[in-house]
Amino acid sequence: MQTWAIANQKGGVGKTTTSLCLARGLAADGARVVLVDLDPHASLTRAFGVPTDPAPSGSHDLFNTGGSVELRSLARGTAIDGLLLVAAQPALATLERRGATQPGLGLSIGRALHAARAHFDYAVLDCPPTLGLLMVNALAAADRLVVPTQTDPLALHGLADMLRTADMVERSRRRPLPRHILPTLYDRRTRSGVQSLERLHDLYEGHVWPKAIPMDTRLRDPATLTASEEPGGRGADAYRSALNWLLAAMPRQQEAA
Ligand code: ADP
Ligand code: MG
Repeated sequence: MQTWAIANQKGGVGKTTTSLCLARGLAADGARVVLVDLDPHASLTRAFGVPTDPAPSGSHDLFNTGGSVELRSLARGTAIDGLLLVAAQPALATLERRGATQPGLGLSIGRALHAARAHFDYAVLDCPPTLGLLMVNALAAADRLVVPTQTDPLALHGLADMLRTADMVERSRRRPLPRHILPTLYDRRTRSGVQSLERLHDLYEGHVWPKAIPMDTRLRDPATLTASEEPGGRGADAYRSALNWLLAAMPRQQEAA
């Protein structure tokens, strides 16, 4: 199983949309995929129409049990073939405080994913926009990091912060964390968009997807994104192409792990 963390310390950059589109693309290829909503705001969970309060089971239970719970027992089916969802629970928001006092909490996700590796081909983790226990947990467990980033000058600062966090996690776990930058919400009619995209390529050559996910209002509709049939349109097509790029960049030896 491969674990992909979709993260950026900035909100509103397309993390949830990216998680959903990549996960459903993998499932469309025939993979068994589990999407894990780690954001207390639960936008991914809500996109699937799952009530969050009370949420019967979900990603907070991973932490309650220190990762010893079976991931499959927390996952629910979706309309999309091959795609299961581990919903976000409101209690996730309280974790950051507990993390400081409870040793071992930082490895819960990794433990649960490791135990579930025979049941899934991919785990896609939709991360919260804050640097804290949840994000560090996800990065510690990830085989690769996908960073959706907007193409404006401010977003470039957020990206630098995110990559520093990835460096920190990489150092502490002593295993490389390959990173892939996906430019999102791109508007090629604006000069700042075009310039920021060029700058992204200059700064992070080789790690940036050569294209960009365009602004597309069809990506704003959760019902379309979570329906059984593949969403169409420029945005969805761009995500398909981004997924192919990610798969091509995948180190072969991790595939079998
Ligand atoms: P994050 O998870 O980083 O906060 P979201 O994926 O929730 O970001 O996206 C933020 C908002 O932008 C949402 O309303 C989403 O529907 C919208 N959005 C995301 N990507 C696109 C896109 N390519 N075109 C148009 N709207 C988008
Ligand atoms: Mg989100």
